[in-house]
Amino acid sequence: MRPDGRDPAELFLGSEAGATAYREAMERATEAALDATGRAAPYSGDGPDDHEERLAGFDPLPDEGRGLRRVIEEVGEHVLSRSVDPSNPRCVAHLQCPPAVPGLAAEAMATALNQSLDSWDQSPAATLLEQRMIDELCGLFGYDGGDGVFTGGGTQSNLMGLLLARERRCREAFGRSPREEGLPPEADALRIVCSEATHFTVRQAAAQLGLGEERVVSVPTNAGELSVEALDRVLEGLYDRGLDPFALVATAGTTDFGAIDPLEAMAERAAEYGAWFHVDAAYGGALALSDEHRGKLAGIERADSIAVDFHKLFYQPISCGAFLLRDGDDFELMGRNAAYLNPEGDAERGVPNLVSKSLQTTRRFDALKPYVTFRALGREGLAEPIEYTLDLAEAAAERLASDPAFELLHEPTINTVVFRYRPTGIPGDASREEWTDRINGEVRRRLLASGEAIVARTAVDGVTSLKLTLLNPRTTLGDVEAIMAAIREHGTRIEAGGVAA
Ligand SMILES: *Cc1c(COP(=O)(O)O)cnc(C)c1O
Repeated sequence: MRPDGRDPAELFLGSEAGATAYREAMERATEAALDATGRAAPYSGDGPDDHEERLAGFDPLPDEGRGLRRVIEEVGEHVLSRSVDPSNPRCVAHLQCPPAVPGLAAEAMATALNQSLDSWDQSPAATLLEQRMIDELCGLFGYDGGDGVFTGGGTQSNLMGLLLARERRCREAFGRSPREEGLPPEADALRIVCSEATHFTVRQAAAQLGLGEERVVSVPTNAGELSVEALDRVLEGLYDRGLDPFALVATAGTTDFGAIDPLEAMAERAAEYGAWFHVDAAYGGALALSDEHRGKLAGIERADSIAVDFHKLFYQPISCGAFLLRDGDDFELMGRNAAYLNPEGDAERGVPNLVSKSLQTTRRFDALKPYVTFRALGREGLAEPIEYTLDLAEAAAERLASDPAFELLHEPTINTVVFRYRPTGIPGDASREEWTDRINGEVRRRLLASGEAIVARTAVDGVTSLKLTLLNPRTTLGDVEAIMAAIREHGTRIEAGGVAA
């Protein structure tokens, strides 16, 4: 099969020959992907050495090309079929969603046209469609007059929120723009306040912004949710010491418990202290689609900025996220002009160049994925699978709580369930915590190595625990029970045989 690189007509779109090559390549690529999904187990169980050995024979840049047909076959057999399959109902570890078919179709369309969202003349229709999508999202989160931009995900969206917060505070309080002149000496007093369960990317952003990770102040949680009482103590303490809590970050859906911080109360505190209020709704933002669960996000409309990920609970292929601003004019805090992309006259002439709203320059047309999915399924059609997974998480938690072999560690808020396998006996030389920690760690390793189910691990109070992230609407309670049975079996066997150190 062409192309082998010798005939440009077959290597690029735009001619009959190119169209034929593309059609055939996409068909074969589709078959290779389909062969790799829908298997009984979510993973082959291969370890790093197995992959290393298998791939060693494939030179990524041979002097002479091997031809596309052969390479697609190789990739299907040696990479895709040996990958974890997030579409498998027993792949329930992380916020790695099964991608929905409309999003996959949109991905193919977006990449074929290769629009770049930095300037109007590289993406006219796409620019406007992204903007319409952003307007719709603003409406969904109660932002009137809001604005936003698509991002690579929560990491980038969180950084943007804190970047704008830092710029605003430094300009207003110290009369200096960090963007232009770097941080003022007074910036030593700046503090970011969030719960101890906040995603690590908030600390990472503090480091990247030149504030430093130690300027992030963690507030204790109750069952994963920020404690308002503790927040008040922290804020008063900072204030008394002459420090400036310039940004308050709430999480709507923590990575482990799916907990949603008390958004209303936090919005009030932010207003009181003049702090920027950013809500990391990377995980929980999708609840806005559901009449039944939207109430859990009450108060989010008071945030200055919101991070939402579509590649999690919105079932879109990676990567796809958005950053939303309640007051679109705040983009001025980061906007810049490049003569070749968005010369100043353009804005006056009404030509939108989205580069001024983004940390990226060249940027994918990711907005097409949620657009196609939203329009194809409608809000109700989208809410249904999400609501199913929340019900499933509740049922799974009930099963775990009523089974003495398990210890349920929280009531689910969204669709994660954190628990532990409870060892039947404790050997004389170990504490219950140490033993539970080791057995649960080993159970997870064995599950992954067998490929029968993929569950996540996390630490709760320093003890290794297990986590099901039930994103997949095809996962049933029967799957959850089968995973519980597999965990119990591994646990019993490990207890009988002892744990290797
Ligand atoms: C996933 C996640 C992030 C990071 O987002 P990416 O899309 O992985 O960059 C941040 N915060 C929360 C709560 C998340 O779940």
